[in-house]
This record gives sequence, structure tokens and C-alpha cells, in this order.
Amino acid sequence: MAKSKKFIFVIGGVMSGVGKGITTASIGTILQARGYKVNLMKVDPYLNVDAGTMNPTEHGETFVLNSGLETDQDMGNYERFLNKDLPPENYLTSGMVYKTVIDRERNLEYDGACVEAIPHVRDEIISRFEKAANQNGSEISVIEIGGTVGDFQNAMFMEAARVMHARSPKDVVFIMVSYLPIPSKVGEMKTKPTQNAIRQLNSYGIQPHFVIGRSEEPIDKRRKEKIAMQCNIHPENVISAPDVDSIYDVPLNFEKDNLSEMLLKELSLRPKTKKANLTKWKSFVAKIKKANKPVKIAVVGKYFDTGDFVLSDAYISVIEAIKFSAYELGLKPELHWLNSKDFETNKIKVSTLSGYDGVIVPGGFGKTGIEGKIKVIKYARENKIPYLGLCYGMQLMVIEYARNVAKLKNATSRELDPKAEHLVIDIMPEQVEKIKNKDYGGTMRLGAYPAYLKKGTIARRAYKKELVNERHRHRYEVNPEYVKTLEEAGLMFSGVFPDKKLMEIAELPVKKHPFMLGVQFHPELQARPLSPHPIFTEFLKVVKKGAH
Ligand code: GLN
Repeated sequence: MAKSKKFIFVIGGVMSGVGKGITTASIGTILQARGYKVNLMKVDPYLNVDAGTMNPTEHGETFVLNSGLETDQDMGNYERFLNKDLPPENYLTSGMVYKTVIDRERNLEYDGACVEAIPHVRDEIISRFEKAANQNGSEISVIEIGGTVGDFQNAMFMEAARVMHARSPKDVVFIMVSYLPIPSKVGEMKTKPTQNAIRQLNSYGIQPHFVIGRSEEPIDKRRKEKIAMQCNIHPENVISAPDVDSIYDVPLNFEKDNLSEMLLKELSLRPKTKKANLTKWKSFVAKIKKANKPVKIAVVGKYFDTGDFVLSDAYISVIEAIKFSAYELGLKPELHWLNSKDFETNKIKVSTLSGYDGVIVPGGFGKTGIEGKIKVIKYARENKIPYLGLCYGMQLMVIEYARNVAKLKNATSRELDPKAEHLVIDIMPEQVEKIKNKDYGGTMRLGAYPAYLKKGTIARRAYKKELVNERHRHRYEVNPEYVKTLEEAGLMFSGVFPDKKLMEIAELPVKKHPFMLGVQFHPELQARPLSPHPIFTEFLKVVKKGAH
């Protein structure tokens, strides 16, 4: 291991879903604020080779990097908290590790050795950790190991981390993010589950240097001392992380406990700045608190229902992108999740949309709920409600326009009905073979591609420049054969790929509609707290003007 590289491993205790990702991202923010170049890495212990094949209702959004790698939504938090793009090396799954090892074995690259979890799988993990740490000249890598201590699946990653610590103790720090319940009938915060989780981690040969205790309330001195005493940790290294109004408060809360200073000390590093430089972050957080003009936005999608719970995780980047632009404009967004299937059965009447200041149809796949979305888009167009379509939301906007304005009867997408007469959305030629061979994983049009924006359009007004780069994730596109017909019917393609064949943005002229715009890409993936995305900002400016 190169001596100059430092590693912080973030490991979960007690249960999942308590904010390990936000903790990791926030540690990135505070270390960056001390002048260090920070790398954030996510380990997902499942066997999928990337996160692209998973159902969003099960796993949440798939976050696409510039490189096109389909990753876990935590990577989105990392990019947002660091305010920088991350390379594909920063995302790792067990699937990637095993695939590499097995491919190597098949290629006789192990010289006849018996290939085993230890050392071969473990060493592949270590080399991936080190490779990621060598990207972008970063000095400190914070690595979040997915799952919870005691899981069968993540044990190999823990073992890799343990070995790295054993080889170079001064360069590796362990943090356990644990949960402290306050059972309502008991009425007090309990530390025992956390104590047990730490002991379990100890059984792997790992002693955490810090415990970050997530709970509804702050952890008091007595409980900090109890955890410290029972688990061989300094009381001041037990950090209280109570629930907060906004996840963006977390780095500031950590700094109240001096966490960046303590982490650097543990890594034998000196802070490069006297104080954490969080000025920009603080002014962003202040904007959240100040935003007061409510705007009601309907988000019409289908990946909401997991049993009796509504899981908005499937659209997390969209939600955050709306918030960043809204706060910038002093708006307090009220997001309403409307299930597109309910518009098909009239469980929700389309006219209820008149009560909203704006409508968004985000990305999606497949047939369910589609006619509901088209109904919504028609209503937004006819009633001049600001509309923003993201990826599928753009394709469906084109379909709606083709059917109802260009009078192309039953116009649709090949994804919905391959035999239809007017396939205004068709498969991209290079995708045909892939589908035939069932080559689905990581084969869509993925990652950052350029688009030229035409003058005098909403798109150009928003970005204020001619050439933009945006991240994609789709197999279908506007059929070039219908572009002329659609344009003659009044739809404008204001953003186009340099080959002039791929339509990247569709919009209606402002004379016809204040904001009816769809993008083939996913602008939400590049929206950041410190640099809100121009498309969302422009949409919300128009929303603000017409707000009820
Ligand atoms: N299903 C559409 C396609 O594959 C849109 C994808 C998306 O919304 N991300 O082209």
C-alpha cells in the first residue's frame, strides 16, 4: 500500500437504512473542508455486476456516473456532498470482484493455483480499494461497506479492510455507524444493540476507532460513557448523530463535535486549514431554512409501492434536484407522488392536476402506467401547466404530441407495441443485436454525451450556452424518420446530439406553452447542492411565476 494513502472504512451496526451513506458523504464534506482531496467509495455486497439490472422499487434509483457505470444511489449522495464527479473505480460489488477472479482463473492467470476466497478474492478487493484511492490524486479514501456487520455477504470486504489495517495501522481508521433505539414503552435510549454490534465487529478482528450513534435524540454523556467503557472506545469518539431536518445539516453537526479534526488526528494527518471551510455549505443550508414560498409539484411515476410503504428512493436524485433549484429561488417545494396507474383507472381524476403548479414525469421502463402518464401530459399541455419530462417523460411527451397534435393515430414507442404503425419512439440501431442476444446488463446508451442547443429556445435560455454534456440511460430514442413531421406540427427539438440524428431535448414554443419541455437524458444526476441544475431552475422559475 502506498504510504501516503489513508483509508476510512464505514461499517454499519444493528440495522440498515440508518444513514450510513449520508454519514460517509458528510465525512467527505468535512475532510474536504480541511483542505484534503477526498475519495468516496461504495461497496455493495450483492452479486450483481452493477446496479443497472435491479428493480428500483426494491433497490431505489440507479445512479449513472459520467463513465456510464450504473451504480447505487449512494454514489449520488457522494457526488452531491463532494460537489465533484466520481470515477467508476469508486463503485464496487461482490459481482465485480468474483467475475474478475473467475475470468482470470478461466484464462489460466493463476498459474495452476487452487483459487480461493483467501487470498485471491480478498486481494482482488484490496487492489480495487487501492486503485480507487489512486484516482484523482485523492489523499483520503472513505469506503462505505454496504449491509450490516454480521451479514454473510460483506464479511470478505471486512476481512480485506482488516488486513489493510494490520499492514499499516496508522493509515486505516474504522467507523461504526450504529443505531440506538428509544422503544416507546421503555422511554429511554438503549445502547445494548450497539454494544453487541461492536462486539460482533471485534470478532472479525476489527476494533472501531469511532462510533457514530444514529438515533431520534442526541446521545447523552452517560450513554456515550457506557458505550465507551463497554467497547474500549474513547468517550469523545462516540459521536451523536440525532435525526435532523435535512441531511445537509449532517456535516455541520459533525463539525460541532470536531469530527474532522479527530479523524485527521487518528490518521496521523494535520489539518491543512485552521478551521473547516464550510462557508458555501453553510450558505446553502441557510437557503433551505429561508425558503418559504410553497410550490406544489406533482411527480407522476410508478416505482412507489413496496407493500404498504411509499418509497420515493426510486426518484431520489429527481427529488434532490428539485430541492436545490427551489431553494435557490426561495421556494419550498411540496412534492406529491401520484401513481400513474391511478390515472388509468380514474382513481385520480386528471383534472386534479389543475391544483398543482407543475408536473414532472420522471424516467421509467416498460408498459405499466404509461397511458396514465400520457393522459397527464395531455392535460398539462392543454392547460398550460409547466411540465418537465425526464427520459421516458420526454419520450411520452413526444408520443402524446404525435397522437393528439400531429394526428399520427396510436403513435407509440417500440418498447410498448413493436407492431404499431407509427413508432415515433424507436429502438436505437445498436441496441437491436443486444436485445436479441439477451445482453441486457450495462448495454443501454449510458453516461455522458454532448448535445448542441438551438438559439431562442427554453433549453438555451436555461443553460446559457451552446454545448452541454448530460448523462443518459436509455435504449429507445425519437425516431429520426418522424422528426420532420413532428416539427411541422409545432414541436421543437432544441437539443440535438452532434450527429444531428439523436434528439436530446423536445419543447414547445413559449408562445404556445409557458414550459413544456422534455429531456432524453437525466439532468437530475448532475444537480448538486452548490450548483443546482439549470433545467430544474428554469422549470421552477416558470412554476414560481404561475404558482397558485
Ligand atoms: N424506457 C425508456 C428507454 O429505454 C426510457 C428510459 C428511462 O427513462 N431511463 O429508452
